[in-house]
Amino acid sequence: MLLFGAYAQYEAGKTVKSMKTNKDQRKVDRATGADREFMRRALELSEIAIRENHGHPFGSIVVKDGKIIGEGWNKSKILKDPSAHAEIEAIRDAYKKSSDGDIKGSIIYVSAQPCPMCLSLIYLSGITRVYYSIPHSKIEEYNKDLSVEYVFKELSRQQNERSIPEVQLLRSEGDKYIKSYN
Ligand SMILES: [Zn+2]
Repeated sequence: MLLFGAYAQYEAGKTVKSMKTNKDQRKVDRATGADREFMRRALELSEIAIRENHGHPFGSIVVKDGKIIGEGWNKSKILKDPSAHAEIEAIRDAYKKSSDGDIKGSIIYVSAQPCPMCLSLIYLSGITRVYYSIPHSKIEEYNKDLSVEYVFKELSRQQNERSIPEVQLLRSEGDKYIKSYN
């Protein structure tokens, strides 16, 4: 397919390495027509969330080697699951469909900038790039109930300055379990 061929060419030709800083990446990043098409698909999926009343109005896809390997939209209402964000659903879908349970090197397209939970999973999954349509600042402006800014603020604080206490208990007993894991 021409679209995916062009995308693969872009991937092969790019010089950005995943270990470069965000600042370095911004200097050389250029979204392609293929990136825009992938984003349109993520936006289409956000419409399913709205139309079917499955959850918040967000959609996401995971792309590897120029092919869509996972799709998802927010299903927090229908699944009664606050973790069923579009990115989580798309990443779960990608893992389920992958033959080796490995999606490292994938790219994720999201209709809105990922929240801290989704961003964490993006890092843990080995995804190397995020494209988003709507920035956090705008989400807050459009609908305060959908804002996650306060969570980012909390996470940027030292552990002992956050509003939810994290209390350590039974350290030596806990150690036994982790040390028995290979
Ligand atoms: Zn999220």
